[in-house]
Amino acid sequence: MIASQQDSGVHSETYDAVIVGAGFAGLYMLHRLRGLGLSVRVYEQGGDVGGTWYWNRYPGARCDVESMQYSYSFSEELQREWEWSERYAPQPEILRYANHVADRFDLRRDIQLGTRVEAATFHEDESRWSVATQDGKTVSAAYFILATGCLSNARIPDFKGLDRFRGATYHTGHWPHEKVDFTGQRVGIIGTGSSAIQSIPIIAGEALHLFVFQRTPNFSVPAHNASLPPEIEREWKADYTNRRRRAREESRNGILTVIPERGALDDTEEARRLEYEAGWRRGGISFMASYNNLLLDQASNETACEFVRSKIAEIVRDPAVAKLLEPHDHPIGSKRLCVDTGYYETFNRPNVTLVDIRSHSIEEILPDGLRTGGKDYQLDSIVFGTGFDAMTGSVAKIDIRGRAGTTLNQKWAEGPRTYLGLMSAGFPNMFIITGPGSPSVLSNMIVSIEQHVDWISDCVSYMRERNLVVVEATKSAEDHWVTQVNEVASSTLYPQANSWYMGANIPGKPRIFMPYIGGVGAYRQICNGVAARGYEGFRMTSGGHGAIPVAAE
Ligand code: NAP
Repeated sequence: MIASQQDSGVHSETYDAVIVGAGFAGLYMLHRLRGLGLSVRVYEQGGDVGGTWYWNRYPGARCDVESMQYSYSFSEELQREWEWSERYAPQPEILRYANHVADRFDLRRDIQLGTRVEAATFHEDESRWSVATQDGKTVSAAYFILATGCLSNARIPDFKGLDRFRGATYHTGHWPHEKVDFTGQRVGIIGTGSSAIQSIPIIAGEALHLFVFQRTPNFSVPAHNASLPPEIEREWKADYTNRRRRAREESRNGILTVIPERGALDDTEEARRLEYEAGWRRGGISFMASYNNLLLDQASNETACEFVRSKIAEIVRDPAVAKLLEPHDHPIGSKRLCVDTGYYETFNRPNVTLVDIRSHSIEEILPDGLRTGGKDYQLDSIVFGTGFDAMTGSVAKIDIRGRAGTTLNQKWAEGPRTYLGLMSAGFPNMFIITGPGSPSVLSNMIVSIEQHVDWISDCVSYMRERNLVVVEATKSAEDHWVTQVNEVASSTLYPQANSWYMGANIPGKPRIFMPYIGGVGAYRQICNGVAARGYEGFRMTSGGHGAIPVAAE
């Protein structure tokens, strides 16, 4: 029905741009395009704005980037007036911030909530997109912009018997809006990634008993979260412009961190221990900045792994449990480093049991529990901390058709292909914010979102000034970029892990390192250089059939 609506060319409304998603990317994109005088419609499947922070309401959810850095920098007034309460903002506060931004910049009037975009088709004769939504409407837009988020497609593995479970089930990335009360319950949590590691200590404090079903142990460092001292906030705000600039231009991941000019093996064992101790005391993902080569050199990385393993052994009283929690299968940091509050300590509680599901996987979910290793665990509730079909999952759910009716899913069957993570050849006027092939999930997301939104806005503005209608990545520029993304990734330890960065958590998903690892500063320079050279690698035309099909290259 959607296809026939599109084919009929009947559009209920016409916009300059349609944006999918009203998280941090969609909100800022709307603000910028409106500033250029474009008519814009944002479709958001959730019941309110906020994206990730709207959905991930699980107990203990908070950001692993410090509050003073995990916020927009585009408005001087906004960054001065907003006050964060904690070093790492909790989910409700970040959601309040997103809502504040939506209100402060009067964004809501162009956002349609509770509406999934089902399909989008590029019409070559008109050089416009038809966008079909779940409410049965089809609208027309010159630009189609995906602000769908990288970790927005929550995934529950296909466990046998799941539909027969009589208790309650939850996914961390799809948490109910009302308080879930685990008091008096036997709760099972499957997964030990960042989400589970944040929620396990809180659920353990509430449940009668918590069973943690662990397949792969993860490295985690303490957050040392605390209320944000007013003097720290004042100090940041007094130097905000400079610090923001440095995070954008000088850092690898969009987070202002001082990285020593030494590798781990340049120090003696004693000096290294002191350095790691300092990182552990400081807390957070900046632990990986203890040395400049932890993600480049295996032997150096192993020293950091060993330090964290020794901490686990120190904290967890039962040596068998400690052993089970120690990661050995991947270099530290090659999966997103987890940041916790009392995670390892939780395993000293009498009401917490760690269950190894690596040696015996989950055989089936039973009506009143689950079975693994021939043993049945009685459960009232099951929490799935089983992650997301990351980076491409939410895009793949939309039936996107570019030139000659080719679908994006067909084109990306062997893995995502983009030029700069911003556009994919054959899909003119379609932009992806923080798409695969850009630093994206390896960075402070708001820094990368702002950079992409600014770049897209400048590109649209450039085109309008010159009466250009269609912009499209060339296939050769895209091929070259994909090669570069893979080359940079293979010079690091990242591809060694079975991570969601590699698509390894989804059975059948192509194994390709999806984000660009060259660092946000270097990447920004590349993007700016491309724009300064007249959008090198992109073809801009005045539209219609005059546009050169990609296949003609
Ligand atoms: P995740 O890192 O993908 O972790 C999923 C967990 O579920 C893993 O332990 C995985 O085990 C397990 N799992 C998946 N399928 C399974 C199966 N069939 N059987 C048993 N276990 C299974 O997902 P996440 O924890 O939601 O985190 C995703 C990303 O979101 C993070 O890496 C981070 O970037 C972001 N995040 C950030 C924060 C923050 O800012 N503080 C908080 C939460 C999430 P295997 O490892 O064996 O596959």
